[in-house]
Amino acid sequence: MSLEEEYQKIQDELQTSFDSGVTLPYEYRIGQLKKCAAMIKAMEKEYLEAVHKDMRKHPMETNGTDLKFTESELGYAMKHLKGWMADQYVKTDLVNKLDYAYQHPEPKGMILVIGTWNYPMQCTLVPLIGAICAGCCAVVKLSEVAPTASAVMKKYFDLFLDPLCYRTLEGGVDTATALLKLRWDHIFFTGSVSVGKIVAKAAAVNLTPVTLELGGKCPVIVDENTNIDTAAKRIIWGKCVNAGQTCIAPDYIYCHKKQMPTLIERMKQHITDMYGEDPEQSDGFARIINQGHYNRLKSLMNDGTVVIGGKTNDETNYISPTILTNTPLDSKVMQDEIFGPILPIMEYEDIQSVFKFFRTREKPLVCYLFSSNAKLVDEVKKKVSAGTLDVNDCLMHMMIPTLPFGGVGHSGIGKYHGKSTFDQFSHHKSVLHKPIGMESVNNLRYPPYDAEWKQNLIYSLAYYKPNAPTSNGFAKYAVTSTMAGAAFAYAYSYPGSSGSGGQ
Ligand code: NAD
Repeated sequence: MSLEEEYQKIQDELQTSFDSGVTLPYEYRIGQLKKCAAMIKAMEKEYLEAVHKDMRKHPMETNGTDLKFTESELGYAMKHLKGWMADQYVKTDLVNKLDYAYQHPEPKGMILVIGTWNYPMQCTLVPLIGAICAGCCAVVKLSEVAPTASAVMKKYFDLFLDPLCYRTLEGGVDTATALLKLRWDHIFFTGSVSVGKIVAKAAAVNLTPVTLELGGKCPVIVDENTNIDTAAKRIIWGKCVNAGQTCIAPDYIYCHKKQMPTLIERMKQHITDMYGEDPEQSDGFARIINQGHYNRLKSLMNDGTVVIGGKTNDETNYISPTILTNTPLDSKVMQDEIFGPILPIMEYEDIQSVFKFFRTREKPLVCYLFSSNAKLVDEVKKKVSAGTLDVNDCLMHMMIPTLPFGGVGHSGIGKYHGKSTFDQFSHHKSVLHKPIGMESVNNLRYPPYDAEWKQNLIYSLAYYKPNAPTSNGFAKYAVTSTMAGAAFAYAYSYPGSSGSGGQ
């Protein structure tokens, strides 16, 4: 049996479950979420050890940035699921005043989640939680690049989740390619821009909607008016978490010329404060995931002057926190996403030149700005397009479940976290539910169209009235006021309409 046939069989089994309606009740969904909660508890120790084995990441860092984050998204979903599942009533216009009009969130159906390795749990389980909340069935493909973490997750996902509705697969490009040949109702992909394009192409064959959580180069602007010490500390932390292998890590800095020497000096101090004189000896600084990425990063160090760091270890894939200056804009380090602990800093005098440079590049997942100048914050907000604008901090915006997370342009399609994840996997079906009675009101719209008062009525009920006829004003007034009166009277006695507070 080919991989494709094998996965088709799995998908058919899940489709049968989905078609049975088993995922529709709130009780089923919340039950699976409770199982997720128990699963995270059960796997915690093994998972933290696994991530440490894959990339020597400190368990406390994995806990804060990956495991607890996922747990917190789960807790938020459990608290709000009932509200998310509820129909959302909308205001109706006068013509439809007597009707129910609302959006009903229906599950899209069969979901494919393709995850990545840098935050193995959050990149796979957070979308899966959203799929469960939305009442979908899902296949999750874990990343082959963090094999220990993926093996632990596979083991626990299989143990805790309903196999009739959710399946987990390990595997690499072959697995992903075979899965992408099948027809899905939604594909949620986290990974690189280049593979994102492959996913989008495969999805287009069946007009399958996608969420693409991609990467790119997240710039940082350090204004002359800011607390430079705090800016340096927050940037260094944002860059060194996971050894820079974070999609929203600061990728490069544009610093105001006046602050350049202070920024570099303060960054040096904060690296020492956080990781000691020799970060290689620190247990809080992770390693590069594999030799391929390590070699790629090592070669990027030649693209400028190393003013801090620059140390490497071929045996352990260690790359020290490294600051580069004099980096040519056309160098490799300024072309591709760095995804490691290397940080080029360039200086500017005129902020307009920075905006001009940004416009020559793809839109980033995040733009960071450190400034106490409200006018500049406003200008960056209006002039720089990015998935998120994070002012005076790094990474923290993603912790807020009510703030949708995602890219724009080449940094991604679609946003998730909190209710947004539920929305990615739901089709918000518009429903108009009209009472079958009151046909005398509806008779107004049927032919014959020869009565002038009908024309007048149409104009008088429209929101936009550029050329409303003025003749027969009395008839118009009489009909609309009677209609409106009847409609309002009825609306206020009709549950679910705006008058009854159903919205
Ligand atoms: P990647 O694109 O190489 O791999 C991601 C997934 O795609 C893996 O599961 C992999 O098996 C699969 N894949 C790889 N090649 C494929 C192919 N040719 N066809 C089909 N599937 C294929 O990405 P990566 O290197 O594992 O992850 C790093 C990237 O992910 C960075 O660019 C980073 O910015 C991005 N990322 C984004 C987010 C986000 O939320 N926006 C989060 C984490 C990582």
